[in-house]
This record gives sequence, structure tokens and C-alpha cells, in this order.
Amino acid sequence: MKKVAIIGAGIAGMTAGVLLQKAGYQTEIFEKNPVPGGQCTGWRREGYFIDNCIHWLTGTREGSGLHELWKEIGALGEGVEVYEKEMFFSSKLNGEVLTFWRDKEKTRKEMLALSPEDEKEINKLIDYVELAETMTVPVEKPFDAMNLIDFMKLGMSMKAMGKVMKEYGKMDIKELALRFKHPLIQRAIIDYMPAGYQAYAFLVSYGTVTGGNGDIPKGGSLAMAMRIAGKYKEKGGVLHTNTTVEKILLNGKKAEGILLKDGIKVEADYVVCACDTDYTFRALLPDIYMPKQLRLQYEEREKYPVSSGFQLAYAVDGNFSQITGTRVFSCKELQVGSHKVQSMSIQSYDYEPDFAPEGKMILQSNFSQTEEDYTYWETLCSDKTAYEQKKKEIAGKAMERVVTEYPFLEGKIHVIDVWTPITYTRYCNAYKGAYMSFVNTKQAKSITVPGTIKGIDNVLLASQWLMGSGGLPTAAAMGKFAAWRIIKEG
Ligand SMILES: Cc1cc2nc3c(=O)[nH]c(=O)nc-3n(C[C@H](O)[C@H](O)[C@H](O)COP(=O)(O)OP(=O)(O)OC[C@H]3O[C@@H](n4cnc5c(N)ncnc54)[C@H](O)[C@@H]3O)c2cc1C
Repeated sequence: MKKVAIIGAGIAGMTAGVLLQKAGYQTEIFEKNPVPGGQCTGWRREGYFIDNCIHWLTGTREGSGLHELWKEIGALGEGVEVYEKEMFFSSKLNGEVLTFWRDKEKTRKEMLALSPEDEKEINKLIDYVELAETMTVPVEKPFDAMNLIDFMKLGMSMKAMGKVMKEYGKMDIKELALRFKHPLIQRAIIDYMPAGYQAYAFLVSYGTVTGGNGDIPKGGSLAMAMRIAGKYKEKGGVLHTNTTVEKILLNGKKAEGILLKDGIKVEADYVVCACDTDYTFRALLPDIYMPKQLRLQYEEREKYPVSSGFQLAYAVDGNFSQITGTRVFSCKELQVGSHKVQSMSIQSYDYEPDFAPEGKMILQSNFSQTEEDYTYWETLCSDKTAYEQKKKEIAGKAMERVVTEYPFLEGKIHVIDVWTPITYTRYCNAYKGAYMSFVNTKQAKSITVPGTIKGIDNVLLASQWLMGSGGLPTAAAMGKFAAWRIIKEG
């Protein structure tokens, strides 16, 4: 029986693990953290559960290869309830609120009532969101292994998406926002993602929600990761947690196995490297092996930016139905990392009553952080006291702004945890603290990196970093593709 060593028990690594076990391979996953899941995780504080990943899981709607993959690895399926998101998010400016509802016709009406002079653009946006509902992540086989018929089938299934790309594919978020005259509509679009990012991403993300294909499995992110880990073990896989891999051991054009931090060598016929790709070619393999498509993206920082978050969780004494979903509101200026913000978000987890003790609720804020912010935190964190002090100071100010917006929270809210881009680097070896991969800007070419490595025959890459802009479906697809290549070789 052929043996496969998998580095990292994130969604990519575990997906590869389940599929290889099912195909009769003997696999072991080596994970540096105490729990599997990687970025798809959550943790407890003061009796509350901080869910830190799934805002929406693309592929919750039946009828796609991706949905079947989620079922196959145990993420979705029998016994897994799915919470249907009622809204994407809402934005508030000068006392007016605009909500992007699951029901896009309700959004259309709300937008038209808000700004009749934007009628043409509003109707166009909502019509194209409907077309974007057909978008899916192809997971059948690696793109470089697809033949003409595969591409034709894919083209047919994405026909509607082609129209979206034709109309919105050459503009960025800022340009999309400026198509509207009403300041709240402009703001709402920019609230969603940074101005330089491609506009179609807004339509695709919102279309995932309106199309019922981006809901949230009950129990949240860690529960989903634990289900996949459970499936992996049920199929005979061996998961080693608290086990850091130090190197991939090469002998000429082949890897012989891996070296663990504690000095143990593990032999393997194949190695699947399912962790951050920057870390992979800095720590586990010589840099010369980095695929050229990846290197290009790491080198062109303006074209392929990455982002992270300064995040905090608040415990609230009471249940307040006024705060539901994700809401963005204007606030007194606040410096977070190296830049200043005038708005912030608050997200409620009221759809999961078990995340907070009875009669209480948990809220979170996430301030988007750029690579410049990452440098700020990286520098600051060389002085542990100053780093902790700054986190506390920003958290206090952020909470003040939440109370200003929702005065009924006065005396009933306190911060239970604060984490920064540095947390992601420490926890997952994440490049610049990023928890998604490269974001395509308007100037950038969309790049998919093959999971093979030129010059090494039996090491496969499986990570969200192989395809922008990452996320859980990409991680699962890349894990599947690594398994597919190994199985194909026999
Ligand atoms: C706040 C937040 C919100 C998000 N929201 C969404 C969302 O709504 N929808 C969505 O689709 N995606 C979302 N994501 C992104 C999603 O979590 C990631 O895309 C996905 O989990 C990445 O999976 P991965 O397997 O590629 O990488 P990772 O999760 O990084 O897994 C890599 C694993 O390798 C391990 N590792 C690294 N180095 C070593 C070593 N030397 N030895 C052993 N193990 C090692 C790491 O500890 C980690 O467990 C979100 C992420 C965050 C943090």
C-alpha cells in the first residue's frame, strides 16, 4: 500500500486525506496545532464561542460538484443542518440603512426607494447578481488536466457568469461604486471590500447568498473542521496534532519523506504539502522549486495584494434583536494598524444560540488590514508589552464606538478577545497574516498554479494559495486535485 505524508490539517490537507484513504492509500496528516482545521477554526473564551471563519460556505446548495465534495468529506450532508442567511450585510450612512438581503428583489426595492435616480444601475446590478448565482468552483479535476470537452462543459455551465464578466470584469470596486449617485449605495459597495479589488467579486459573493449557495453549516467553522477530521479517521487516516514538520527530505528528484521537528523521519511515497505556500518554499523546500506562477504573484505585490484583519469579540449581557447579521456603520475616526478608519462592522452570531451562555450574545468586529498594516503589527510585536497594549487600546476605542452606535449596550458589553494579522502567522504560518489568498486586482491576470513541482516528482501542493482569491472551496478543490494526481499515477 502506498504511503502519503500530508503536511497540515487545514481544509486542503484533510480533503486530500479523506479522498486518498477512500482510494486505498495509507496516509498520515501532520499538524502543528493542537486541533485540526487551520484557518477554519474557533475557540472558547469566558464561556462564549468565537467562531472565526465561515461567513458563508459556497456550495451549500445541492446540484454542484462542490456540494458533492463537501458531502463526501463530511463537511455537509446527513445530520448537518444549514443556517440560511437572511442578509449579506447592511450599511449605514447619515442615519439611512441599506441592506443586501438574501431576497434580492427586496434589495432591489430598498435600493430603488433610496435612490430612484440610480434606477438603471440598480436594476442592472440586481439582474447581474442573479446571473452570478450560477458561479461555482469546478472541482472535478485539475484545470491543467482538463480536455476540450471538459472546458466546453465548464463553459456551458458558466455561460451566465460569462455575461457578468463581460459587463463587470474590467472594473474595480471603486468604479462600481461610482456608477451610483447615492452616497449610501457607493459606501455600501466600498464597505464590502477594498476599492482596488475587482467589481465582479462583489456580485459573485452576493449572488452566492441570494442563490442559496452560501449558507452556514450549524455549529460553525470548528465543528465543520472536526467533522472532516472525523471522516478522515473513520476512513483509517492517522492524524498527528501538535506535530510540526521541519523539512521535506529530498533525494535527487524525489522526496523520501519528511522530517519532524522532534527529529523523527517519516518515510513516504508521496508528500502532500497542504500549508501556506510562502512558508513551504522558505522552510520546507528550497526556494528554487517555487512554481513560477506563484513567484510572480509574490513579487508583484501591488497587483496581487493580500489582506487580513484586526478582530475582536465582545460578550454582551442580554439578547438584542436589533443587532443581527453583519452591519457596517460610520464611526468616529479610529487608527487600526497603520491606517485610519471612519467606519466599522459588527457581526452577530445570534443564529447559533450555543455560542453564548443563556440570555447573552456574542458579537465580533473585523477591521480589514493591508500588507502595510501587517508590517506595522510585525514591527510592534517585537515588543510584546507594546503589542498587547496597542491591541487593548484599539479594542477599548472600538467598543466605545459600538456603544455610541447602539447605546442600549452601555454597561452590558465587554471585550473577550482581540487578535491581529500576527495571530494568523503564528497559528498557521500565514503569509503576511492573510487568511484568504491573493486578491486579483483589475490590473492582474487571474492565475491558477498547478499543484505539481518542477524537478520533484512526488511532492504535491494543496493549498488555497494555488488559486485567487482562496477560501474554503478553493482549499477543498486543491486538496482534491492533489489526491486526484496521486490516484491517477496509481
Ligand atoms: C476570519 C476569517 C473568515 C473567513 N471567512 C471565510 C468564509 O466566509 N468563506 C470561505 O470560504 N473562507 C473563509 N475564510 C478562509 C478560509 O478559512 C481559508 O481559505 C481556508 O481555511 C484555508 O485552508 P487551507 O487548508 O488552504 O490552509 P490553512 O487553513 O492555513 O491550513 C494549513 C495548515 O497547515 C498547518 N501547518 C503549517 N505549517 C506547518 C508545519 N510546519 N507542520 C505542520 N503543520 C503545519 C497549519 O497549522 C494549518 O493547520 C476565512 C478565514 C478567516 C480567518
